Amino acid sequence: MTLDRTTKERLVRALAEAVIAHADELTSLDQAIGDGDHGLNMKRGFEAVLATLPGLADKPIAEMLKTIGTTLVMKVGGASGPLVGTFFMELGKALPEAPARADLVAATDKAINAVKARGRSDAGQKTLLDVLVPVQAVLAEGGDARRIAAEAAQAAERTIPMLAIRGRASFLGERSIGHMDPGSRSVSLLIGAAVATLEVEVHS
Ligand code: ADP
Ligand code: MG
Repeated sequence: MTLDRTTKERLVRALAEAVIAHADELTSLDQAIGDGDHGLNMKRGFEAVLATLPGLADKPIAEMLKTIGTTLVMKVGGASGPLVGTFFMELGKALPEAPARADLVAATDKAINAVKARGRSDAGQKTLLDVLVPVQAVLAEGGDARRIAAEAAQAAERTIPMLAIRGRASFLGERSIGHMDPGSRSVSLLIGAAVATLEVEVHS
């Protein structure tokens, strides 16, 4: 798929708006099992990304993703900033300019491995990896846009009964059980927005 300038701008706006519109919800989730800053952290980061438009959308897709990543690392803060930022940066590094689906599968795999290394974490620990990893598996299996979006939402829901083993929520031990992981919710919102914008291209 090759994204034209308009699609790239729509994609960036959709990602940012998804997070910004849900900032209060993300804050509530982080108030339950963290320190309550996740909504504001993500909102600040994506507002900074929006401020780099319209020039951002003129860049080739790889450069655009790397710029989003570095902006998020600089502006989001918290544990999630470097992790979500790393995902975008590594995705940018790994994607060719006109990626086929197999390129997207390989690039998301590399980006997830970089997040795991950075967070010293893995799926099953009640973190944003509990959305990234299963969604990437659906992508690799050839799942269509609807399945990818559904898996993102369901994977975030599946963090509710999990015990947190990484991140601030792990300090709560058993009391982390029964709440959705805030970073997982953010990532599911980002994936939902990306899929909705790129639906046509994901099929090709
Ligand atoms: P902080 O925890 O520093 O306040 P945020 O509230 O912005 O940062 O982000 C919290 C989210 O970051 C968690 O919900 C979780 O998804 C993610 N997270 C935290 N630590 C890790 C880690 N080691 N690996 C992967 N994700 C993590
Ligand atoms: Mg927090």
